[in-house]
Amino acid sequence: MLAGGTDLLVRMRLGHIEPDLVVDIKHIPAMSTITHSSKGTRIGAAVSGAQLGEHKTLAKAWPGVVEATNLIGSDQIQSRCTMVGNLCNASPAADSVPAMIAAKAKAVVVSPKGRRTVPVEKIVTGPGETSLARGELIEAIVLPPRGARAGDAYLRFIPRTEMDIAVVGAGVNLTLERGRVKTARVVLGAVAPTAIIVPAAARAIVGTRLEDAALDKLAAACSAACNPIDDKRGTIEYRTKVAGVLGKRAARLAFQRAGGA
Ligand SMILES: Cc1cc2nc3c(=O)[nH]c(=O)nc-3n(C[C@H](O)[C@H](O)[C@H](O)COP(=O)(O)OP(=O)(O)OC[C@H]3O[C@@H](n4cnc5c(N)ncnc54)[C@H](O)[C@@H]3O)c2cc1C
Repeated sequence: MLAGGTDLLVRMRLGHIEPDLVVDIKHIPAMSTITHSSKGTRIGAAVSGAQLGEHKTLAKAWPGVVEATNLIGSDQIQSRCTMVGNLCNASPAADSVPAMIAAKAKAVVVSPKGRRTVPVEKIVTGPGETSLARGELIEAIVLPPRGARAGDAYLRFIPRTEMDIAVVGAGVNLTLERGRVKTARVVLGAVAPTAIIVPAAARAIVGTRLEDAALDKLAAACSAACNPIDDKRGTIEYRTKVAGVLGKRAARLAFQRAGGA
């Protein structure tokens, strides 16, 4: 499948894969639109990062998801790349994935056998590996309906200011009730073979007004959940520390966006 081709064409040119057939989905109308219904927002698999960023309603409802996708590459890459391609490429450092998982996004998977809806966190099974069976493809990503008093954020750390791969990424999505966190989801990228949900980090802030003690607990939970690699971009120790810092910062931003004081 070729959505934007920004991963696929690179891998083909490097000779890593030699597909018998490449199917370009960019011109399939149902895969190229963003639609809203009572079930949420459906983003077609071929919708580019640039299209997402220009969609004002979506950017207002899910700034974390949109910003995460807009971090991918450069303007040229943005005009092609998709969230679904980012997901199916199955890089542990994929930027849009932690944000989608934090948002409880679902993937609509189609095949000649029919259609099924799968939580995004069930798609990637390891670096470069997905749970999609032969003949299955993702038709769309569905974000749940957004109520008031809700906010999300995604932050990543890269050694350069642009065009680099996340050393750590952190996505937080939360809702508030009477100024306190009612529900939360904290997800980390680039610190394990797949993006990881950190329930202990979410528990640390539920019921709080994001006081420093709660944020410190969230940071400790994020660091404890890490199982990163050691490479030229960052040591295990460094990634583990940065995961806590970014988790905290993303939580603060999501809290502000939800209208928290
Ligand atoms: C210069 C450059 C900078 C980059 N910067 C970043 C970055 O900052 N952050 C980041 O996360 N990534 C980055 N990337 C990687 C890449 O751009 C992203 O992963 C992008 O989101 C891939 O989307 P795409 O639509 O181009 O995917 P494609 O290349 O079209 O597809 C990627 C994979 O998904 C499969 N696929 C595509 N569509 C479907 C479908 N509908 N159903 C099932 N499988 C499908 C393809 O077969 C392929 O295996 C960068 C790449 C380049 C070249």
